Amino acid sequence: MKNKIAIVGAGISGLISAIELHKNQCSIDIYEKSVDIGGRTKTDQIEDYCYDHGFQALLTAYPYVKKYLDLDKLEIQKFLPGAEIIFQGKKHIIGDPTRNISFIKSALDSKIATIGDKIKTLRLSNELKNKSVAAIFDSEEIPTHTYLQEYGFSERIIKRFFVPFFGGIYLEKKLSTSSRLFEFVFKMFAEGYSSIPKLGIQSIAYQLKTKLSHVNFFLGQSINHVESGLVTLSDGSQKEYDHIIIANGAHNYTRSNPITWKSCVNLYYEVQSDLKSQKMISLIGDENKLINNFHFPTDLHPHPKGKRILSVTVVEDQGLKDDKLIKSVQSELDDLGIVQKSKLIKYFKIDRALPQLNSLQYVPKDEDLILDHNVYTTGDHLAMGSLNAAMASGAKVAELINQKI
Ligand SMILES: Cc1cc2nc3c(=O)[nH]c(=O)nc-3n(C[C@H](O)[C@H](O)[C@H](O)COP(=O)(O)OP(=O)(O)OC[C@H]3O[C@@H](n4cnc5c(N)ncnc54)[C@H](O)[C@@H]3O)c2cc1C
Repeated sequence: MKNKIAIVGAGISGLISAIELHKNQCSIDIYEKSVDIGGRTKTDQIEDYCYDHGFQALLTAYPYVKKYLDLDKLEIQKFLPGAEIIFQGKKHIIGDPTRNISFIKSALDSKIATIGDKIKTLRLSNELKNKSVAAIFDSEEIPTHTYLQEYGFSERIIKRFFVPFFGGIYLEKKLSTSSRLFEFVFKMFAEGYSSIPKLGIQSIAYQLKTKLSHVNFFLGQSINHVESGLVTLSDGSQKEYDHIIIANGAHNYTRSNPITWKSCVNLYYEVQSDLKSQKMISLIGDENKLINNFHFPTDLHPHPKGKRILSVTVVEDQGLKDDKLIKSVQSELDDLGIVQKSKLIKYFKIDRALPQLNSLQYVPKDEDLILDHNVYTTGDHLAMGSLNAAMASGAKVAELINQKI
């Protein structure tokens, strides 16, 4: 008889678990409390254009992305392997001239980095290309900021480039996040591209779902309680299963310490701008600015009506009410002088964006995935906040169950 499996949560980790268990002929029910799949990968459509809830980059070199996603079908739009840094009103380009020759001049001219920084960046890139992912996650963990100082980078490049760039990825600007994530992400950038799927980040979940033709999805169905062999729905009804996976983004039921979350705000504007099309992320190198980074999604993938859209990200909780934050961001945009006219069209405040974790793993430890007799958990919070980790975690828990059945 087929093993009956319940998965609570249709985020990326739950979907990957389902894919792996589906291969083993299990009968799978997925319960998702919201009305659509994807969890934190969420996209709104307005006028046939896609607005992700929070700027999320899909790194093409992520090993689990290569395993599970068809990037051609996602029609990923790649950023150039570089960034623009705006510091004290001046623009500086920092990029990898070995990957894109257009960066050669800026690499030589850049005042953001010393000559020593430029040599060290290339050395680190080569070292990390040759360091295996396993070796990265076996390495001692120190805060990224300490790592950069110990590597010998100047305060100038740390403050002006690494803080805004990795601050935007970690969603914290002290760079206290583990050096394991720094090495891993740096390696991923060195080996691939940062990209956005044409139809938004949620299209990752939709593509995964196409592999789940025989899985039952119960959308808008919240699970209130799980115990060995039994799930209880919000209406009080119960259903029996052989194995249950809680993939609920650490909302409940995890036995680990409560997770604290890193937050961000993402604002989208329809703009008029003289700026040339640029397939690059722009970083704000000045301290004490609210805006951490911005880019023009329509420079990667045009709007059907020819509109130019600007996406702005503010990281960390700034302790401001929404209207105050919107006003302050507008005034920073005015000061930057990058747009002549702007109209705010979307405002996303994401309180639970990335889990705050002290120690990072590539794949969760078995003991963190097993909660109780035949009850398991999965999610990025058991490894590190990333799509790769959500996938790794979903695959690992399915492997544990597949070994039992
Ligand atoms: C703003 C932002 C920026 C990010 N940037 C990046 C990035 O640049 N690169 C990157 O790799 N990653 C990024 N991430 C992280 C990435 O999106 C996550 O790692 C991944 O989506 C987590 O998937 P998950 O399945 O572990 O959890 P979730 O996506 O949280 O899924 C949990 C699911 O469980 C459901 N659920 C909860 N409780 C119940 C219940 N009781 N019953 C039924 N269902 C329930 C939820 O509705 C949700 O659908 C970012 C995330 C955010 C939000």
